[in-house]
Amino acid sequence: MIVLEVAIPIPLNKTFYYLPSKSVDPKDIVGKRVKVSFGKRTLVGYAITCQDIDDNNSFKLKYILDVLDNVSLITQEVIKLSEYISKNYICSLGESLASIIPVSMKPPKRFLKNKDILNKIIQERHTLNTQQTNAVNLINKAIDKNNYVLFLLHGVTGSGKTEVYINIIENALKHSKSVIMLIPEISLTPQFVNIMTKSFGSDIGIWHSGVSNIEKYNLFLKAKTGNIRVMIGARSAIFVPFENLGLIIIDEEHEYTYKQDQKPSYDAREIAKWRANYHNGVVVLCSATPSLETYKDALDCKISLIKINERINNKELPEMKIVSLKNRIFKSSLLLPGTVEAISKTLTRKEQIVVFLNRRGYAPAIMCRECGSVYQCSRCSISMIFYKNPDLLKCHYCGQIKRLPITCSVCKSKKIMVFGTGTQKIEAELKKLFQNVKIFRLDGDTVSSKGSYEKVYNGIKNGEYDILLGTQMVSKGFDFQKVSLVCIMDADTSLYLPGFRSVEKTFQLITQVAGLCGRGDVRGSVIVQTNHSNHYVIKCAKNHDFVSFYNIEIEHRKKMFYPPYCNLAKISIKNKIEKTVDEDSVTLFSFIDKIIENFNLRLKLLGPVSAYIAKLDNVYRRYIIVKGERQNILKLADYLDMFKQSCGTIINIEIDPLNLI
Ligand SMILES: [Zn+2]
Ligand SMILES: [Zn+2]
Repeated sequence: MIVLEVAIPIPLNKTFYYLPSKSVDPKDIVGKRVKVSFGKRTLVGYAITCQDIDDNNSFKLKYILDVLDNVSLITQEVIKLSEYISKNYICSLGESLASIIPVSMKPPKRFLKNKDILNKIIQERHTLNTQQTNAVNLINKAIDKNNYVLFLLHGVTGSGKTEVYINIIENALKHSKSVIMLIPEISLTPQFVNIMTKSFGSDIGIWHSGVSNIEKYNLFLKAKTGNIRVMIGARSAIFVPFENLGLIIIDEEHEYTYKQDQKPSYDAREIAKWRANYHNGVVVLCSATPSLETYKDALDCKISLIKINERINNKELPEMKIVSLKNRIFKSSLLLPGTVEAISKTLTRKEQIVVFLNRRGYAPAIMCRECGSVYQCSRCSISMIFYKNPDLLKCHYCGQIKRLPITCSVCKSKKIMVFGTGTQKIEAELKKLFQNVKIFRLDGDTVSSKGSYEKVYNGIKNGEYDILLGTQMVSKGFDFQKVSLVCIMDADTSLYLPGFRSVEKTFQLITQVAGLCGRGDVRGSVIVQTNHSNHYVIKCAKNHDFVSFYNIEIEHRKKMFYPPYCNLAKISIKNKIEKTVDEDSVTLFSFIDKIIENFNLRLKLLGPVSAYIAKLDNVYRRYIIVKGERQNILKLADYLDMFKQSCGTIINIEIDPLNLI
């Protein structure tokens, strides 16, 4: 009796057997997505093999309800890759298949071939400078040889990497190879997508979360059949099923968006390496501020390092001025007199300004002046953010909105004060200081629709705005010619967050935001306001000195035994009852401790500790951190299922988490 083996995206690490519908050849179903009933639910699963089993075992089996695909999508590569993901990021085969071939993708009624012929427009091409030429030559040589090679393209901001990308993509296409290009967030980079579309015309596909389920399926098939040969997209584009994948480019490789924060918490950079290895292709990781992990791999010769240390057209990197916030009078504005003067001068010269503050809202807290208590969200253990016009409090974590209290909930005092500064307040202050100034505020509160970035980009480019003010959103991939001043209002916002990556993140933010200026005719200048002028991260950022920063920071990681010197796992324990979550985390900790000892796993355990936000949306959260070699962490994970937790407690393990907060 022939049955089909089906992987289902549920957290059970096994496959299930179903009978093929009577009229269909079971071999025709293998490799396709199928609808099956599972318990009381109907789920989409993945038919991975068909097998001949003893008739006696088949009497309880159910029939497959429906076959969803016309063509087989699950290739040998997909099977192997999903096994890799399931093993390394701890999830079932079905769950990893679901991240490669989304459950929601819908086949179109008929396969749409490229009717939307977009003619390739011959772009005005710039001559490459020596360093760009060198980079292109090295990468192209590797593409020509058909070898698996990893590159780190470490180029300063404004070094003309787009030109490098276009040249190497062209070369891959010339050799009939396909290309995946990942960018951190596709909606943030409309101008980049435009350049690429103009260069590669109908060869190109754009893959992002806004693409419909039918269109995604269509892109999948076009990629599979070679109808498109370049796919540009965010993280999940890494799975696009090209059969002759020759080149993967990861732009801004240090960006956190490449790591999926849900299960399976895969890292697109690791998937890129796996796929390039499978296809004998080339991976180019690119950044002005590479992650410490990647840079260390480059120094250890696991990745070939290519440096571009000059900007195109010999533009100078901006001058960095560090200004201490320490002597600021309590409560006075973050807009220090010197900064205001610099803004004023820049406005007079009719040049543009970027003002960066990584905190949205009007003020990050309201506080009672009598007893000092800070107003917290009732569902989360974090302070609520104050907004003006209308005056209200918002929780950035659960979305709860409240009216501003009149009296302190603790001591009933009426002396309630707004504390700290967010982007909304800076906007109000700037408008007061410079009447008629045109400001675009770019943060999570002003950007909702898809077209907003295009609007910002065009608005700044065409000179409709004088000042671009915003959170870290402003640091993503803009290329403006008229920005000659960047003001970093508070460089410390990310510096003292708990977590071993805070300093690295701070360096990346300062460098990326500073890099926005001085790309045109005027040399730019950057004002960095900080309470920690003597911190090495500020000093290194001032000198545009990534290497010195790396050397200091990597020593800290080594001393403290953090990545890249070990692998990490974050085991989270969640429950709505605080007492239960505490008890369960203590029991789990000693359970893990025993396993490590009994099986000699040589792992270090930290915790259990409260998460940075100990209660989120009424769920209490505790963490146990495991440090050591990945293979030992994976062995430990095998035993976690044996732990019996209290009712309602959820235990989850995340491999190589970005943060420990
Ligand atoms: Zn909340
Ligand atoms: Zn009070």
